Amino acid sequence: MDSYTYPDARSLYRLPWSKADNSIAWLEATSSCNLYCEGCYRANIKDSHKSLEEIAHELDVFAKHRVFDGVSIAGGDPLVHPQIVDIVAMVAERGWKPIVNTNGLALSDEMARELHKAGVKGFTFHVDSGQRRPGWTGKNELELNELREELAERVARTGDISVAFNSTVYERTLPYTPDLVEWAHRHADKVQVMVFILYRQAECGRQDELDYYVGGRKIDMNELVYSRPAHDQRLDISSREVVARIRERFPDFAPSAYLNGTEDFDSLKWLLTTYAVSKKNGVLAYAGRKFSELAQTLYHFRTGRWLAYEAPSTLKKGRSITAVAGLFDPGMRRAFARWFLRPWRWFDPVHLQSVMIIQPIDVLEDGRMNMCDSCPDITVYEDELVWSCRLEELIHFGGFARGFPKQQKDATGPIITVKKAAQGRADSSPLG
Ligand code: SF4
Repeated sequence: MDSYTYPDARSLYRLPWSKADNSIAWLEATSSCNLYCEGCYRANIKDSHKSLEEIAHELDVFAKHRVFDGVSIAGGDPLVHPQIVDIVAMVAERGWKPIVNTNGLALSDEMARELHKAGVKGFTFHVDSGQRRPGWTGKNELELNELREELAERVARTGDISVAFNSTVYERTLPYTPDLVEWAHRHADKVQVMVFILYRQAECGRQDELDYYVGGRKIDMNELVYSRPAHDQRLDISSREVVARIRERFPDFAPSAYLNGTEDFDSLKWLLTTYAVSKKNGVLAYAGRKFSELAQTLYHFRTGRWLAYEAPSTLKKGRSITAVAGLFDPGMRRAFARWFLRPWRWFDPVHLQSVMIIQPIDVLEDGRMNMCDSCPDITVYEDELVWSCRLEELIHFGGFARGFPKQQKDATGPIITVKKAAQGRADSSPLG
């Protein structure tokens, strides 16, 4: 159980997403990658690119089951797919926002321009010290800011494209989280979102307590790529613990919206903090729950979709947004007042920026898998919508695994069938 208590979910806005109506969908274009990141949940398989026909088919499956705003084009690294420009164009032509999730290694200026022409609306760059990245091995999170800046600059000079940075949080990198938030403040014109994904393994450290089954078959979770850490790592860092770290440096840091867990409703699986920030003067104020509600609801009212990535040109209108949103949201009101009452700062641009903390799968003591309720990162496997973070279980074992306490396994026995689990509808782990 998480010993950190702030924030209390009841003070936050529960993001309105569901399995059928969500902000994004997760398209895996390839399982090939040009890096081997420590925390990766997918096997790196050379030349495993999906054909354009397969990708078109997966988009059809998404469209049949789900309304969504953006498509996270992921992998592997999607930029190693030889037809990535066509894939981006295909997503854009169907009216969704293409977002490329990449380590950035293959992103040249020319590639950025081609993707922009094809309609890319965002990049989510995964950059952290667990990547064995050529030329950057041994660098810490602070030293990697130089690379983050280079990538953000490249995108900014290409066009009005959203930029997010992902960083996997290990015990050793947890102390750097406030530094990364501070770095994001200083680059608020080029960086719209910072994402911290807390490191997990398939068994989450419960290998001595639980046996794992798929249907009636006992399986060995050690076969999965994300059961093999390069080092001993803590597997229980929570989103609240990250908030506590950030608040040591920024005491007012205040999340406003969340997704709960499917089994532990008190767990904050996606935790969103939004604020108005000026590059020179830092954070003006943090948005409250009303602002998140307003942003999602107005967008849904206007477009029929829940909002995914917003363009930098919109988010840089921080002054107007805080003025209007301040009518409803006390946090935005404070931000506007702080800007207005300091005339010498009237000409400083004000941007909206967000920090998202993601706490992926937790294996509970009794073996239940606590997933993100209304998971945005749902992908397609054999024409079904499934959790992208657990694809390896489907590929290796033919279904999602479930743990059972070792001493009770004969009494209770596994209760899910392979078919049900593969459909993501196991009794114990409803999806979405
Ligand atoms: S449940 Fe969904 S959102 Fe949560 S970590 Fe897994 S894939 Fe990502």
